[in-house]
Amino acid sequence: MSDSIKEKLEGIVSKALNSLEIVSTPDALNEIRVNVLGKKGELKELMKSMKDVAPEDRPKVGQLVNEARDQITEKLEAAKQKIEMQQMELKMAAETIDVTLPAKKNVIGHRHPNTIALEELERIFVGMGYEVIEGPEVEWDEYNFTKLNIPPNHPAKDEQDTFYINKDIVLRTQTSPVQARRMEEGNLPIRMISPGRVFRSDEVDATHSPSFHQVEGLVIDKNITFADLKGTLEMFAKQIFGEETKTKFRPHHFPFTEPSAEMDVSCFKCGGKGCRFCKGEGWIEILGCGMVHPHVLEMCGIDPEEYNGFAFGVGLERIALLKYEIDDMRLLYENDERFLKQF
Ligand SMILES: [Zn+2]
Repeated sequence: MSDSIKEKLEGIVSKALNSLEIVSTPDALNEIRVNVLGKKGELKELMKSMKDVAPEDRPKVGQLVNEARDQITEKLEAAKQKIEMQQMELKMAAETIDVTLPAKKNVIGHRHPNTIALEELERIFVGMGYEVIEGPEVEWDEYNFTKLNIPPNHPAKDEQDTFYINKDIVLRTQTSPVQARRMEEGNLPIRMISPGRVFRSDEVDATHSPSFHQVEGLVIDKNITFADLKGTLEMFAKQIFGEETKTKFRPHHFPFTEPSAEMDVSCFKCGGKGCRFCKGEGWIEILGCGMVHPHVLEMCGIDPEEYNGFAFGVGLERIALLKYEIDDMRLLYENDERFLKQF
């Protein structure tokens, strides 16, 4: 397997563990956390080289990355407790001198429910050998629509639905353009997810926002069937909502996939019997998916006679709202500490 990526990973882990051994202040601890696990941290950087790994080795490498992250997170938590203990001892020692001095209260922030849901999604798909690829939020009309088989007269292109910068440039309405860009690069097969912010000119209400987040997935390889799609998404549903979760696929229409479907999961509150949470249905709609349309493959320079694949898209807020039983999407954007503290 790819020795260089394995070596780099071991390097990152041993360096992080060594620095965590000697770290003594919360600031230094936070610096290590950001440098290693952060959005632009060493592990994220390493994930970018996943595309150079042989496809059959990617799940293995994904698992190694997850293990490394766990190992470092555990050590970080231990170091954090050690530092807190030391600071408590220092504080107590100081208080024996002046007990009247009020302690300074440090309020430390914590992860947003969206971030927690995204990290869980990334973890599931990285574990299956997927790359995580991000792309531009301001996108060519061509990539956002044309290359995804959305014709010029399609209602989604209406100014009522899309924010236009000018006639050629839009605020992306989905993260699928990242998939088109990746397909154009070639280097098949592809197993990727593209998380990120998307924009629609919606009014704000309990279930809509002009800006929200999507995670879209794409697999391109030889001999991919609808069974692969179902198996993958079923595994995803079980990991995110629990082992008991059942899935159901309903036929649907999307321009970039054929056939297309929407996937429901059995209600994880009532187990499918029907309750207030699932509005008595027993099922909850989760995502859209389908086999990539041959025309989309052609437009991105892939021979549909040789390759095919599947794609899916899920709203990150939808997952966070369901998972944490939040009934109003607006709560996710208000940054009210009393709300955010609960997660
Ligand atoms: Zn229910």
